[in-house]
Formats: sequence, C-alpha cells, structure tokens
Amino acid sequence: MGRYTGPSCRLCRRVGEKLFLKGDRCFTPRCAVERRHTPPGPQSRRRRRPSDYGVHLLEKQKAKYIFGLQESQFRRYMEEAFKTPGVSGIILLGSLERRLDNVIFSLGFADSRKQARQIVLHGHFRVNVSKVDIPSYQVKVGDVITWKESVKSTGFFKDRTDGIPKRPVPAWLELDKTDMSGRVLALPGVEDLQKGIDSRLIVEFYSR
Ligand code: SF4
Repeated sequence: MGRYTGPSCRLCRRVGEKLFLKGDRCFTPRCAVERRHTPPGPQSRRRRRPSDYGVHLLEKQKAKYIFGLQESQFRRYMEEAFKTPGVSGIILLGSLERRLDNVIFSLGFADSRKQARQIVLHGHFRVNVSKVDIPSYQVKVGDVITWKESVKSTGFFKDRTDGIPKRPVPAWLELDKTDMSGRVLALPGVEDLQKGIDSRLIVEFYSR
C-alpha cells in the first residue's frame, strides 16, 4: 500500500485524538478534532468500544500516523527493535525520534513532520559535510545538521527560520540560531520520546 496522501486531519479523526500533524493550525479552534468528535465516513458509523485487538491496532496506527510511515517501514523498525537488546518499545520510539525528518521538525525548521520530510527530500540539508536527502536517515551523536548554502538566500529559508524556535527544542538536540544549524548532543532518552504513545501496546501488537 502506498503512502497516505489524504487530509491529515482525517487521521486524527480516525484515531479520535489530536496527533498534531499540521503545525500551527493544530493549536487553533479550526482543529478538526475539536470541531467534530465523530470518525470520518458515514455518520452511522458511531465510535464503538474497541476490542482488545482494536486498542492495540489503534496505538500502532497512531505512531505510524505521527511519524508519517507506511506499514512496511513501521514493521521494519519494529523488527529491528526486536533484534536489539533492551526494551523493544523504547528502542522503537528512539529509532523513530532519530529519523532526520523528525530531527528537522524538532529543531523547528519545519512546521510538521510531513513538511520536514518534503524539504529533506528536496535536498535542503547537509549532515556534517554531506547532502542527505533521505528522511529515514538515523542521526548519530555529534552529527551537525545545516541548511544547504544556496537555500539560505531564499525567501523560503527566511519564512522557515523566522522566529524559531517556535517550540522547545528537545534536550538531546542543540539549535544554533546564529547559523540555523542543529547538533545531536546525545541519543534521545526515555523522557525525549514521543508522548502519548503506549509502546507496550505496539510491541504486543507485533508479538501476536
Ligand atoms: Fe489533527 Fe492538527 Fe488537524 Fe487538529 S488540526 S485534526 S490536531 S492535524
């Protein structure tokens, strides 16, 4: 199945909570979840009490939607987490945090992870000295993320970086506002992982 290209708000309505997929709009009364409490589709489909399977599935879907991943990609992260010594759920969320598109979003260079993915794909960033246009690139401690020089003279760069940071930058990253670069200070700790996802349910979902 291909990447979901429909309205982001529909995903939030599907899981019944705010996933903050659209940047500033999510903090306004225009948020679709705040205006409509029903799932998308015909209104006869009322939200019923989910089964045990449904609860586990929903948690996995939430993580997938937040990080903008397809099922096959998400499954690969889970398989890697199972192979790595440690708590699989924490390892899974840590790997998702370390994706380059997530780092670009966390540094405030993009309003949403979707936008971050797009500007990474357009080759706007360098990691250390090399151009990296792979959104799934896993950052390492000591990596320095900079904008491509030619992008810095554009209105797009000015729009993107005016007034940042708009959100607090996580402690494992450092933002240098003088040259709009980011540095990876440490690997994300448990306190830095995406809030609102119960990784235990995801692990149980894939362990069935
Ligand atoms: Fe979700 Fe943001 Fe849309 Fe609200 S505005 S439904 S939080 S994507």
